[in-house]
Amino acid sequence: MAKYVGAHVSASGGVENAPINAQKLGAKAFALFTKNQRQWVAKPLSMQSIDEFKINLKEAGISPEHVLPHDSYLINLGHPEEEKLEKSRAAFIDELERCEQLGLKLLNFHPGSHLQKIAKRDPNYEELLEKAEYECLDVIAESMNLAIEATKGSDVVLVIENTAGQGSNLGYKFEHLGYIIDKIEDKSRVGVCLDTCHTFTGGYDLRTREAYDKTMDDFEKIVGFEYLKGMHINDSKVKFASRVDRHQSIGKGEIGLDAFKFIMNDKRMDNIPLVLETIDESIWKEEIELLYSLNPASRPS
Ligand SMILES: [Zn+2]
Ligand SMILES: [Zn+2]
Repeated sequence: MAKYVGAHVSASGGVENAPINAQKLGAKAFALFTKNQRQWVAKPLSMQSIDEFKINLKEAGISPEHVLPHDSYLINLGHPEEEKLEKSRAAFIDELERCEQLGLKLLNFHPGSHLQKIAKRDPNYEELLEKAEYECLDVIAESMNLAIEATKGSDVVLVIENTAGQGSNLGYKFEHLGYIIDKIEDKSRVGVCLDTCHTFTGGYDLRTREAYDKTMDDFEKIVGFEYLKGMHINDSKVKFASRVDRHQSIGKGEIGLDAFKFIMNDKRMDNIPLVLETIDESIWKEEIELLYSLNPASRPS
């Protein structure tokens, strides 16, 4: 089995340009936004755009299973305010429908944020924080169940990304991911994307063989590799367990090259999109080559 490596490419000018941009990099997988990620509303995809996307994808030799669309940054499926939650839920369903129209199989999203401000000096800080977090995780799971119900008949998988845990963002613990999955009624519609930078700054080490094995064992126990549908391949600008999200080019950050060698040689990461979101897109082609050089036999024929 092979590794499918690519990058989060631009879809500017239309989604149909994304496969062309991926092909230029020699990518075997890619991520894209199917609409402007900083706007709530987008024009529906035109038939022409959809047709050209499919043609260009075929021409790039990339399978729909290896495309990992990312939803808008505005969406918060755990929003504490009713009106904003409704807006997020509607936008998320629209994102799922766009994936379906494009013939894609996955939609990657950040779980959500509770947005509560709990004072660290509060004697019950830990308890209050955990309560806010798990209440929010319940809202996120409910949002996902509603979205799955609203797109019944579709096979697009809702792929929860683990986060660095910056601010009140949830998903920085494997337990959060496992808790959400447990509440999803249709398990065939839920998956997980592990971002190496978020994993590392969220407090799971990847730097040595032992640390990597321990982290992946924890993931298997708490979430399960059957749910791993993609990865974001990023080094980290910031220190281990810092709970800060700052990507760095591969091998140039705090994680270092070994972790990526472990991944490229780990069969559990076969046949899923492995997508760069590193900071210098001018070297993505070289980074894809670098990753394949860590296990030349993993290059798809
Ligand atoms: Zn990511
Ligand atoms: Zn990130």
